Amino acid sequence: MSILQQLRNKLDNRELSALELTQSYLKEIKYKNQALNAFISVNEAQALSIAKRADKIISDKKQALLTGLPIVHKDNLCTDVLTTTCASRILSDYKSPFNATVVEKLASQDMILLGKTNMDEFGMGSSSENSYFGSVKNPYDLSCVPGGSSGGSAAAVAAGLSPFATGSDTGGSVRQPASFCGITGMKPSYGSLSRYGLVAYGSSFDQVGVLAHYAIDCAYLLQAMAGQDEKDGTSVGTSADFFTRTIQQDLSGLSIGIDEALIADLSAKAQSLLQDCLEIYKKQGVRVKSIKLPDLKPAVSSYYILAPAEAATNLARFDGVRYGYRSKKANTLDELYINSRTEGFGREVKRRIVIGNYVLAASQYEAYYHKAQQVRSKLKQDLDQIYREVDMILLPTAATTAPKLGAQTDPVSTYLSDMYTLIANLTGAPAISFPIGMIDHLPFGAQLMSKNFKDHVLLQAVSEFQRKTNFHQPRQLLQGGWA
Ligand code: GLN
Repeated sequence: MSILQQLRNKLDNRELSALELTQSYLKEIKYKNQALNAFISVNEAQALSIAKRADKIISDKKQALLTGLPIVHKDNLCTDVLTTTCASRILSDYKSPFNATVVEKLASQDMILLGKTNMDEFGMGSSSENSYFGSVKNPYDLSCVPGGSSGGSAAAVAAGLSPFATGSDTGGSVRQPASFCGITGMKPSYGSLSRYGLVAYGSSFDQVGVLAHYAIDCAYLLQAMAGQDEKDGTSVGTSADFFTRTIQQDLSGLSIGIDEALIADLSAKAQSLLQDCLEIYKKQGVRVKSIKLPDLKPAVSSYYILAPAEAATNLARFDGVRYGYRSKKANTLDELYINSRTEGFGREVKRRIVIGNYVLAASQYEAYYHKAQQVRSKLKQDLDQIYREVDMILLPTAATTAPKLGAQTDPVSTYLSDMYTLIANLTGAPAISFPIGMIDHLPFGAQLMSKNFKDHVLLQAVSEFQRKTNFHQPRQLLQGGWA
């Protein structure tokens, strides 16, 4: 039984109250977060009062699927309690007056918000080290990163500080930390969830996602968050069972494509875990076919031109006047802008703003921005061609397991490590990362990607895989020695 099903049953049978459940998670957070730094803020008072309300709703038998279940939100999703900092100094005291649409949808079922999770500043990074509030640690090995940018969410779920979490995924930020922390993480199709209230990084790439142990739980959480929203013109209407409609079905008739040449670059152990994963799928009646993916390096370049261009535009609003941090060292308006941004943004965010403004400069536009858009269109065409032959593509989520804290010093090689994830964002496609084994003592994840709006097939495929394997099951991490 999945975590969601187990908790739902216990709450509904009154074996456990929502209040007891919330208290036990808050206790875990109190002890284990000292070592992990996965939280930026904890919602103790409000969580307990919502838990009491949820218990009343359950005793009146008026509960919805998620009533009384705890969750944590990445700190770039606006919530009308706590701060919404994006892990930036510039928003370190920012309180949103409203909830993001996805937050509101979960709150409307009386889900219990335990806290807001740490991340790379504004979602820019792959390790959760670029945070004004300090690095997040990987619960499997505290000397390693949890991945990023939704590293706090991934570490919290993996370490049992919350059963579920939201994240955001602009170039891999839900999937890669899920892979490094041994859990399941899904980025749904662009447009399937509203982005209203998600602080914008790269608007044509950003999508809210979820992290949990079980794919089936991801499916039900996504379903609860989905739907067209008049406040986000890119959101689209989806059916009431868009994510869940085939979740219980077997996999006969489905096919997975694999590019062996791409896999050949990985370590022997990573290759063998991916081969084992394919064998499990073959036994379930899935047809495995060789495919040739387009060269992924131009895709990385395209992403690292377009995403900073959008970021430079989106982050122009943080000027020390309208939002957040304001420098005290300013005598003129120009100094106010310059000093507030200089002091308010971290190093990586500044790098992205500089790159973004450079590629958008009139003199450079043709050479960079325009070219990058062409690469993006070509990638979509090439992938559409592949989807004529197969339903899904299997890739590693990342080439390796979690690196050591502080090990990634060269930005370009860090950017290249996003090679397998950012193609889904460039094309708007859904993609899911799920654990397929361990390399040494660290988890390793695989990724399935499909055509846009075939999200349910991915969730079905991973759910079936998880019925036959136990890599995704929660482990006892940080037992002693962490305080
Ligand atoms: N690592 C990528 C970046 O820094 C992706 C981050 C994300 O998905 N938010 O842009």
